[in-house]
Amino acid sequence: MNKNIAVIRGDGIGPEIVEQAILVLNKTAFLFGHTFTYVDVDMGGCAIDKWQDPLPQAMLDKCLSSDSVLLGAVGGSKWNRLPGEMRPEKGLLRLRQGMKVYSNNRPAKIWPQLSDASPLKPAIVEKGIDFIIVRELTGGIYFGEHKTEEEAGQKKATDILTYTEKEIERIGRIGFETARKRNKKLCSVEKSNVLDSSRLWKEGLHRLAAEYPDVELSDMLVDNCAMQIVKDPSQFDVIVTENMFGDILSDEASMITGSIGMIPSSSLGETTRGLYEPIHGSAPDIAGTDTANPIGTVLSAAMMLRYSFDLAKEADAIEKAVSHVLDAGCRTADIFPADAEKQKSCRKVGCSEMGRLIAEQIGKE
Ligand code: NAD
Repeated sequence: MNKNIAVIRGDGIGPEIVEQAILVLNKTAFLFGHTFTYVDVDMGGCAIDKWQDPLPQAMLDKCLSSDSVLLGAVGGSKWNRLPGEMRPEKGLLRLRQGMKVYSNNRPAKIWPQLSDASPLKPAIVEKGIDFIIVRELTGGIYFGEHKTEEEAGQKKATDILTYTEKEIERIGRIGFETARKRNKKLCSVEKSNVLDSSRLWKEGLHRLAAEYPDVELSDMLVDNCAMQIVKDPSQFDVIVTENMFGDILSDEASMITGSIGMIPSSSLGETTRGLYEPIHGSAPDIAGTDTANPIGTVLSAAMMLRYSFDLAKEADAIEKAVSHVLDAGCRTADIFPADAEKQKSCRKVGCSEMGRLIAEQIGKE
């Protein structure tokens, strides 16, 4: 199989972690007889420095003509003072809009080797953590009107939250379809006791439920969901929610599984072209020190193979290799145990060594 992959290394640790994912993809391609061709795309702070634009149209076009996009991370304090349109994160929002990806899917799964890294009590972790948050990505308050005005001698800021029935239905379907492939439990999260947009959300989800009689639909208010994720995460299979709630809940979910550096994500729309990225940011505090954990990016590459290229065996091989390297006790600094006794069975490795070890392990039983 031949595939073109647009690669956005981005800022901070972005280039370091993407390099490891490419190493892993190349080894997989070699073993399974595929050809992956990489097309470099500038986005974020590095694009602002080079092109005075966080995502020039020519760069977006490269992404749109690729089979999928692999992204490291963008952003950093160097660009924080720029006006909104010129911020690195604006590149990301424009990329998501340009690719028409409206669904962000984040697994929250605990790796048994890292169960100690969860901040939750062992009794909660032992019940199991394995759910997916399906977050609406191109609507809601982040894409509504934003304005700051002067009124009666003081500033007033407004952000508008809008959802249409169509937007709710298409993300709702992804929620139901995802649940169908898992344990058939879908929890719709909203704030229908206060927000009109949430009441429309709830109605839309319940209308769809008639088409998915095999999936058990439940409703939960977002504030309760935030509590339940730390109280008993084993109750969840698939959560579907709107953009801002999903942003917040998925960060919370990432923390209970251990390290933010372990978690991949996919963003998909109507086509198989997806955007694959780890959930963390550009971690400027550790950039250039070869200490970042590349596993979230490596697993994002595996998701790309599974969901966009239909290469399940190849994705399995990558995930197995990650598990094996963790079994062998190799840990980047973020997942290195704090406990002196547990440290004895682990070895601290850098970002590049972790990437090399995973790549070497692919294809070995
Ligand atoms: P962050 O995720 O970059 O870092 C939070 C903490 O987690 C830091 O201590 C960092 O060192 C650590 N961390 C993150 N990824 C890690 C990894 N792979 N291995 C080990 N440790 C890791 O969040 P932040 O500090 O709030 O943001 C930094 C910059 O990233 C900001 O400019 C922000 O806007 C941007 N950002 C970008 C994206 C994206 O590109 N998708 C997402 C979130 C934040």
